[in-house]
Amino acid sequence: MNDFIPIAKPLFEGREAEYLQETVTTGWISSLGRFVQLFESAVANYCGTQHGISTCNGTTALQLALATIGVGPGDEVLIPTLTFIATANAVRYTGATPIFVDSDPYTLTIDPADLARRVTQRSRAVIPVHLYGHPAKMDEIRAIASQKGLFVIEDAAEAIGAEFQGRKVGSLSSLGCFSFYGNKIVTTGEGGMITTDDENLAGRARFLRDHAMSAERRYWHPEVGYNFRMTNMQAAVGVAQMERIAALVGARERIASLYSQLFADTPNLTLPPLASWARPVCWLYSIQLNGFSSTKRDTVMERLREAGIDSRPFFYPIHTMPPYISDHLASYPTAENAAACGIQLPTWPGLSDSAVYRVTESVKTILRNLSAGGS
Ligand SMILES: *Cc1c(COP(=O)(O)O)cnc(C)c1O
Repeated sequence: MNDFIPIAKPLFEGREAEYLQETVTTGWISSLGRFVQLFESAVANYCGTQHGISTCNGTTALQLALATIGVGPGDEVLIPTLTFIATANAVRYTGATPIFVDSDPYTLTIDPADLARRVTQRSRAVIPVHLYGHPAKMDEIRAIASQKGLFVIEDAAEAIGAEFQGRKVGSLSSLGCFSFYGNKIVTTGEGGMITTDDENLAGRARFLRDHAMSAERRYWHPEVGYNFRMTNMQAAVGVAQMERIAALVGARERIASLYSQLFADTPNLTLPPLASWARPVCWLYSIQLNGFSSTKRDTVMERLREAGIDSRPFFYPIHTMPPYISDHLASYPTAENAAACGIQLPTWPGLSDSAVYRVTESVKTILRNLSAGGS
């Protein structure tokens, strides 16, 4: 029996344990301590923004970004339907309504034409998601947003290091949001970050993150804020991860290009997008099994599991899930079709070339057998 190949696995080859040990030894384990600020500046510098505001996870980074620009009940926020549930939930937590938008057929990120159609008087913001590591069409999105007076908040949770026209994601809008969950490109276990160039928004985000405590008067709270702080323990791991970010991103790039090379002549597969204006990062190597129903796609994943290989389906479009069905005003054919036939394959920086060979051979064999068997 071959070793089981997981879909994701963090790689700690730098000073993670050493820095973490320091937080325990010194007792600086909560949100005071040197690593929090070091991590904030490391991420901000890397993304090319003036400010980084760390949070306890990526979902709270999104919620805090929305609160920072004053989104609340009665407002609408446009988001792609094909994204992780956190994008929609963060909007819901503020009391605003998420308005779903279909996907661009090539990049699978928010479709600018559909976005423009769904803007109303109530629209306050749009959250493009750099899905699976490929940047959204930021120039078209920003043009629509400035014409309609919308804030743009990037959900860059899956895409740290990706570039749009030579600029890093997280620096392409008012506020960028990142996640450092265990399967993300940079991890702190749980963790998040807002990046911004706007000093006022940065100050407002810091204030709200810390229970809206007055800077002049400790324990005086003029508003209802949140405790969305990151701990020094998380940040310690993050600082060590950022010291090695080039290697972490580069290893994923190597794995993605090996996958693409090995799948190059496999029929009826759509490989991950690579737009001329983008330099994506590979969060999870994503393929579409052209013409497959979701049932047939699920069979492929089952057989991969029998072969000792983990995989996952694309996200279910959010407008199809119970909490959001009532918001379902129209159909979203591109997102629905991609979601039904999409799977993701093991992608993590320590994954060996021989494991990538094993995965691609298994996928090809399963697809051949399925088409021969006709089911
Ligand atoms: C992971 C993720 C988030 C949320 O991050 P958490 O740290 O898990 O809260 C938000 N949006 C997208 C697109 C994600 O993939």
